[in-house]
Amino acid sequence: MQQLVKVIQEGDTSGNNMIIRLELPSGLKVIGLATKNSYGGDWDFGPSWNYIVFADKVFLLDTGRLGMGPKLLEMMECAGVSKGDLDFIVISHGHEDHDGGLCDVAGSTGARVKAHPIYERLIRFYPDRAPADVRKDFPASCWHCFMPASFSDKHCLDYHRGRNRLEVETIGDGNSGVSETVRAYHVPGHSPDALAILVGNDAILVGDTVLPEITPFPTREAFFGQVREILNPHYPCPDSVFGLRAYIRSLKRLATIGDALPELLVLPSHRLFYNDQWNELDLRERISEILDHHIRRCAEIVKILKTVPKTAREIAFEHFPSSSLEGFGMLMAENEVYSHCELLCAAGDVRLAEDERFFLTGSEGFESAIQALAPE
Ligand SMILES: [Zn+2]
Ligand SMILES: [Zn+2]
Repeated sequence: MQQLVKVIQEGDTSGNNMIIRLELPSGLKVIGLATKNSYGGDWDFGPSWNYIVFADKVFLLDTGRLGMGPKLLEMMECAGVSKGDLDFIVISHGHEDHDGGLCDVAGSTGARVKAHPIYERLIRFYPDRAPADVRKDFPASCWHCFMPASFSDKHCLDYHRGRNRLEVETIGDGNSGVSETVRAYHVPGHSPDALAILVGNDAILVGDTVLPEITPFPTREAFFGQVREILNPHYPCPDSVFGLRAYIRSLKRLATIGDALPELLVLPSHRLFYNDQWNELDLRERISEILDHHIRRCAEIVKILKTVPKTAREIAFEHFPSSSLEGFGMLMAENEVYSHCELLCAAGDVRLAEDERFFLTGSEGFESAIQALAPE
């Protein structure tokens, strides 16, 4: 990869503020712009990598986190891209570190916005259709949010309102709506609306679905229940777009692209450059590592449940080191355990009792269940 990269602007050791240009073998060009993505606290995914793709159309994939729009526009200018050059903006998935700057960038460039149809639906408010136990003043994408109100009231309300004002053109699965040489793939799991963007046969922009050094967190199938009405009739069952099973199917789908195109350059949305070094990814190899990680985590959870039934929180306490459970870490760990327990339940290995504790059934079919999941 390094021979393809030309650094236009140096960043810090995590890659913050770095601007790079990639000349792909077929002659297509990609510019990568890394915008700061820090929330304070200990955990750090590294900057959000936003990419401008110069194919038969010119588009920007992602816009950094809330507040980073003006900075991104400045970086674009520094890379020699003017506002009028963009045909449109594509959003890889509806997480704030990727579409937080969208209103600013779309407003300033006048570029149209494209995203998966699920994104277009979930960024809207449906106060009359929201379930009783969620914040009705949140968009449907955030009904499941587990962050405390003290966090969301400060960081999210303007973001929600801004996105709701946007007009979004939808990109279906396959080739529709992107361009002649660029193909979008729907890869739900980390987020129900996640897209991967294949540029020619040279590079794939994988969003947060495949990351170096980090195993992306899956959503939970349970979230589907809240938005079922909004997504119907296209997505009839929970694991079609939510949870670990959907995520694993998406990984396998991407692996088949990697099989067909073994030389593919993988451009992730975080940590392309981190700790002062480039993270070069082999798509198939990284996917197989992530799959192994989830198999191991399922095995660990089964082991933890061998003594007595436990709640997700109790499992998280045993499974994760205490340092990763500080602050919001506990909520994320619990979410992770739930998504694995959903897969274990679907495999028939675990059941949920009325007291919210998970218990073992005696079977151990999760590994073959994971192997059997086939790409859509
Ligand atoms: Zn994400
Ligand atoms: Zn992200």
